[in-house]
Parts: sequence; structure tokens; C-alpha cells
Amino acid sequence: MTIENIPQQVENSTKLETQAVVERPEAKNGALLSIQDLRVWFELRRFGFGNAGYVHAVDGVDFDLGHGEAIAIVGESGCGKSSLMKTILGLNIPTKGKVSFEDTDLTTLDTKAWRWYRSQVGYVQQDPYGALAPFMSVERILNEPMIINGIKNKEKRTERIHKVMAEVKMFPVDDFLTKFPHMLSGGQQQRVVIARAMILEPKIIVADEPVSMLDASVRVEILKLLRGLQETHNLAVIYITHDLSTVRYFSERIFVMYAGKLIEKGNVDDLLGNPKHPYTLALLAATPEPDYQNALTFKEIPAGEPPSLVNPPAGCRFHPRCPYIIKRLCDVEVPPDFQIEPGHTAACWLHKDAGTQS
Ligand code: SF4
Repeated sequence: MTIENIPQQVENSTKLETQAVVERPEAKNGALLSIQDLRVWFELRRFGFGNAGYVHAVDGVDFDLGHGEAIAIVGESGCGKSSLMKTILGLNIPTKGKVSFEDTDLTTLDTKAWRWYRSQVGYVQQDPYGALAPFMSVERILNEPMIINGIKNKEKRTERIHKVMAEVKMFPVDDFLTKFPHMLSGGQQQRVVIARAMILEPKIIVADEPVSMLDASVRVEILKLLRGLQETHNLAVIYITHDLSTVRYFSERIFVMYAGKLIEKGNVDDLLGNPKHPYTLALLAATPEPDYQNALTFKEIPAGEPPSLVNPPAGCRFHPRCPYIIKRLCDVEVPPDFQIEPGHTAACWLHKDAGTQS
């Protein structure tokens, strides 16, 4: 079966354009995406059917994403940010808690509604070459999501492809449409991935380390491109990265993630200008600065590795590495989010007197 021969049931179940195929309530709280006490645990199995525990990949995450807002989720490898992203994309099922899109709980969506939801959330992968089917031309790659979503009019699809290719600055468009992924540079491949994410006119783009596999020379261009698309289309963007040096140019709010939890949240200027959680301080200390004098200096960063998510430490999960640990408190009690200033919270007992518990 070719992609032109989509199943009849798909044709029947979708409308001509990328419209919702499910009746859904209007958003009441104004949030485009709302995540409440989200937990995503993966079961470990012994031989046979015995349960050997769970990987607590995401463990009590809350946040709202507004229309047109760009947020960054920052943390080192293994902190749970990719599991969180996959849950937002609908690839992981929440163990507990809720993910709502415009006040619709994702767990209530049926098959048709899932297709609609996925048209509303574009995905930009980390590895552009791995994300593109090597046997498909750029034109076919961009056609496929529209065909799956029931856009049968070929002229409209071609018009949309040309528009999106121009938006991602792939000129001359007709020359690029006939190329295959291996004929493109890394930056051009990532532009095609972004074009595919934009082709159905989504409301959210989830960008998973979108520049980490690109040459330094094209990283800024790709980040500028994403920022431009966000502003032009009032897109909400979830930018997932381990690199704090790029988030200032891309997001309005930053959420710092450690061992499955968001441990500091704040506006970019507040969080980067006045970081409060010891882990955020450590991440900032580890961020390289383009100053030749740094070549001869060593930075103090907390020793150790992120904890196992199978048996995370009691109390504050950062306590085995924290230089400011308060014995018999940090290693026993889980710190709640303390409000440092409006919109800026830190889950750290050091701030129990400075801030109100949010
Ligand atoms: Fe360090 Fe305690 Fe704050 Fe955790 S709660 S970051 S262990 S001071």
C-alpha cells in the first residue's frame, strides 16, 4: 500500500482540512496544555512475571503551558525530560495524574481524537537524519502527514508544502522537494523536520534537543528559525535541552528537572539571574562560557551522578550530592515548592523561611 492509498476509514473519519475530529469543550482555565501531578513509572520485571519495582521516570510534575508561550525543560541525561516529552506526545501512558489539552483529558480521547491531537502537536526530533525516512523524498515526507489526516486535495497539499518550505527557508523549494535526506546537510535535514512538524498547523511544537546534533555554526540559525515560527504563528513551544546557554534566547520560562521532578521554575530572567536551587547553580556552573580565560580555571560543581530512578533517595533527591544539605531534614522530608517571588519557585529546604509554600 502506498501513502496515496490511505484506508477508507481514515478518509471518512477526517475532514478536508486539519480540523478537529472530536467535539471538545472550550478551554476554561486559558491553558493550552495542563499537566497535573503527572507520574510515569515503568515496571521492571524479574524472570517470568515477578515485579522487580518501577523506574520513577516522571514523579509528580505540574505545569501549565499558555497559548504562544515558549518554555524550556532543562536537566541532565536521565532526569526524565524525554519521558515527560513522550507522555505529552501521547507515546507514554501516565501512571497517575493528568495531561489535558484545551481542557480535554488525553486519557479520554478515542482513536480519531488521538489523530486530531497529534495534528495539534508537532515534534522536532534530536537526530534529523534518523527522523527522516531515507527512502522518501522531501515532498513525500511532507505529504504524508496531510494524507494521513485526510487532506485529499493534492493542490492544497502542494500549496501548503511550498508555503512551509518557504517558512523554513529552503530555497529554491522545487529543487529541495525532489531530494532525499542523504542529499541534505544536517541543518537542511533539521529544517525539513521542522517543516514536517509545522505542516498540519499545530498549536504546540515539542522540540527535543533540536540543535544538539548540529554543527555549532548552524545551531543559532535553527534556534532563530524556531523562534521566528513561534512568534509568527503564536505557537507554544516546549524546548527540551540539557544546555542552559541556549534557553535564554528561546524561552519565557524555564523548568529545571532532576530525578523525575521539576525542582525550580521561573521566568528566564529570574531563574538565570537569581537561581535558588543548588542543582540549578550546579547546572549554571557547568555551562561553558566563550571566554578564553576559562581555559585555565576549574569550576566547582557537585560531585556524583544522578540517582537511580528505581530507588530514588528519600527526602530531597539531590541530597546525596548537595553541598548545602541540612541533615535529618533534607534526607528525610521531600521539600515542597517554596515561592521565592511571584512565578519563581524552588523545591529546596534552604528557602523554607524566605518563601511561601506554593
Ligand atoms: Fe540541598 Fe537540602 Fe535544598 Fe535538597 S533541599 S537542594 S539537599 S539544601
